[in-house]
Amino acid sequence: MAYWGSLALSIYPDAPSVVRALAPTEPVILNRPQAAARAARFYAEKFPGKSLYAVKANPSPDLLWTLWDAGITHYDTASIVEVRLVREALGPEAVLCFMHPVKPAAAISEAYHVHGVRTFSLDTVEELEKIVEATRGADGKAAEDLSLCVRLRVSSEYSELSLASKFGVDLADAAPLLQATRQVADCLGICFHVGSQAMTPFAYVQALERARAAIVDAAVTVDIIDVGGGFPSIYPGMVPPPLEDYFASIHRAFESLPVSYSSELWCEPGRALSAEFNSMIVQVEKRRGNELFINEGAYGALYDAAHVDWRFPVKRIDSHGQEAHEGAMEEFAFYGPTCDDADYMEGPFVLPADIKPGDYIEIGMLGAYGAAMRTRFNGFGAGETVNVTDEPMESQYSGKRRDPRVSDNVVSLR
Ligand SMILES: *Cc1c(COP(=O)(O)O)cnc(C)c1O
Repeated sequence: MAYWGSLALSIYPDAPSVVRALAPTEPVILNRPQAAARAARFYAEKFPGKSLYAVKANPSPDLLWTLWDAGITHYDTASIVEVRLVREALGPEAVLCFMHPVKPAAAISEAYHVHGVRTFSLDTVEELEKIVEATRGADGKAAEDLSLCVRLRVSSEYSELSLASKFGVDLADAAPLLQATRQVADCLGICFHVGSQAMTPFAYVQALERARAAIVDAAVTVDIIDVGGGFPSIYPGMVPPPLEDYFASIHRAFESLPVSYSSELWCEPGRALSAEFNSMIVQVEKRRGNELFINEGAYGALYDAAHVDWRFPVKRIDSHGQEAHEGAMEEFAFYGPTCDDADYMEGPFVLPADIKPGDYIEIGMLGAYGAAMRTRFNGFGAGETVNVTDEPMESQYSGKRRDPRVSDNVVSLR
């Protein structure tokens, strides 16, 4: 186990210091392990159940080590490559759950027989049969230690990114699947995903009501209720209520479900545990009116900015590494470095009106579905990674609990 990975990175106080030291001509990823550790401790201490980190949001081993050290013991993996990665990074004690409802038989078999995975999700009888076959022993006997979570389709109406159409059994079809799964599972769970960046706790309350209906219809004993991911971070124009409000609503709804007294409550935060971990320094290579050509884009960490018009907070750092600025601000759009017209991020990103080629921009809150999305398309996607010790541009965990009555928890209608 290479526990020293993150220690090997250079440490700077903040992004301007990195610019002064490196004058980077390629994008630099900034890690903030202290922010990720704070998020992990928050979940470990305050979520009224078990928190599984959803690895796909950011599989960086540096982040995995940080979360592990801060008390996250369970990991939601979605592919055999993620299973191997987490096992390799964290060793035999990490509890891995394979929560993709459509898996190759070979992936299930390797996860169970080689990596000790016992928890799987599913949303069809076919997947259930596949899991039973792939986990049989050499003697042909069926596994007796499976925790199987039936993924229920729930609404994504309160979330910024839908996860409602691809996976999940409809409530109308859930009873026979729950009953069939109960026959072979040591532990039976119900899981769902309310969509990413859920802007109100009510998303979970509504989904838990659907879980209640499924349990009542099927008349089965349920041991695990897994409310999935969707817990929000903070971005421009998307300021959610405090996470404590989500936890309280979920706890209340869970306590009233007809489940066994010993049943467990789980959640699978991806974004909420990783968003604050990364920001990035990019350089302006050209300015055309209020369009900035920068050296990172749609095929890199700005995938969501390009494809779903996600907005990220930004700060200008001039070519001498100075951040101070007193003049007017303007709205800008970005072009990425590839030769593709689609490499365009509409924003708007609010920056000093006099920003010019050679200046740098720190783009914040790129830890979730940002740093993890980089490709090498067109020869871009390289660059250094360093650690910084300052605060992320926004935080859900800084202790300044906002008054929920003034939260901007309006869901944008798209
Ligand atoms: C992506 C995903 C998550 C994490 O979702 P976030 O919105 O990032 O919290 C959790 N569970 C499953 C099954 C997922 O597919």
